[in-house]
Amino acid sequence: MAKITVNNLNKFYDNGFHAVKDVCFTAEDKEFVVLVGPSGCGKTTVLRMIAGLEEISSGEIYIGEALVNKMPPKERDIAMVFQNYALYPHMSVFENMAFALKLRKENKEEIKRKVDFAAHMLGIESMLKRKPGQLSGGQRQRVALGRAIVRNPKVFLFDEPLSNLDAKLRVAMRAEIVKLHHTLGNTMIYVTHDQVEAMTMADRIVVMKDGIIHQIDTPLNIYNNPANIFVAGFIGSPAINLSTGKLAAKDGALVFDNGDYQLALTPDQAKVLAGYKDKAIIMGIRPEDLYDARFDSMAEFPASFKAEVDVVEPLGNEYHVILKTENQMFTARFDPKELPRMGQQLEITLDMAKAHFFDPESEANIF
Ligand code: ATP
Repeated sequence: MAKITVNNLNKFYDNGFHAVKDVCFTAEDKEFVVLVGPSGCGKTTVLRMIAGLEEISSGEIYIGEALVNKMPPKERDIAMVFQNYALYPHMSVFENMAFALKLRKENKEEIKRKVDFAAHMLGIESMLKRKPGQLSGGQRQRVALGRAIVRNPKVFLFDEPLSNLDAKLRVAMRAEIVKLHHTLGNTMIYVTHDQVEAMTMADRIVVMKDGIIHQIDTPLNIYNNPANIFVAGFIGSPAINLSTGKLAAKDGALVFDNGDYQLALTPDQAKVLAGYKDKAIIMGIRPEDLYDARFDSMAEFPASFKAEVDVVEPLGNEYHVILKTENQMFTARFDPKELPRMGQQLEITLDMAKAHFFDPESEANIF
């Protein structure tokens, strides 16, 4: 069993900075949990405390049933993979991968068997004699992974392991780590600032900002039901469109009015949000929930408004259109049909059932 339990974890650095604030989460046995958040949110500090590389100010960390607060790193049965690989430059790939096993005084044949197994899994069998300086960034990262795999730890901890790789290699390595998890079945905690990595790799995501956890859930639940404005804006690319307005009564119905346009709420939204009538509210709508009325039937999506095309970004399989109304800018993601021109007036329909509403003060998702 390698469940990780983190209870009320706090970190005050020596200068008094409160970097991690009452963080609580679990990574179940065999689960792949991703800690994601912007730079400085405290995710690396949490990981380093789990690894035993950073002292805990208060709180508890359990690996399985064991409280590990005071346990030295090497007794925790974890392997950590870093962004900068941290390979020994004077050792061959084989020696780098074998190093921890030699320290454990395992016999030679066993070490060779384990290194060969990991090298085969990672496709680096032909490079075992090379030094790290003779490898590409992606190959070095594979060696760093291999060095962790041979130890067969209870838990893998990853600290932004793909950040030094180019975009294409990152995508390939992402898939390899997911496959690795599937094959090995170890518990994994992975830190990244990249929401795409979090969405594509995680069983569950922990979203952090300013040392605080804002939401813990599966990727799709977080995408579809973001807990607050920060999570809604952080997860998803292009980012969700946020518009400040108020709820007003019109023709017996409730509408969202931001000064530029009015959009009728669905009956479900109207019921839940009735208390916000005549009050400020923030509406969020994702780019894929906006449609070009020239191609998508108004009957299906009756809410609409007019906007001018500011910029068109064709991506081949889709295009992003930055649109403006009098006081608002927002992004739409359209299928590749007829590309609009800059300056063109478009009628935009939207799937109101997909809209989110946030309280402007608490910033919490209220629908
Ligand atoms: P990044 O993605 O940039 O690595 P992060 O989310 O991993 O960021 P941490 O490295 O955990 O963030 O740092 C959290 C906060 O703690 C940051 O504001 C950082 O400046 C601060 N911090 C980190 N190490 C120290 C230290 N030794 N002394 C004081 N403050 C520190």
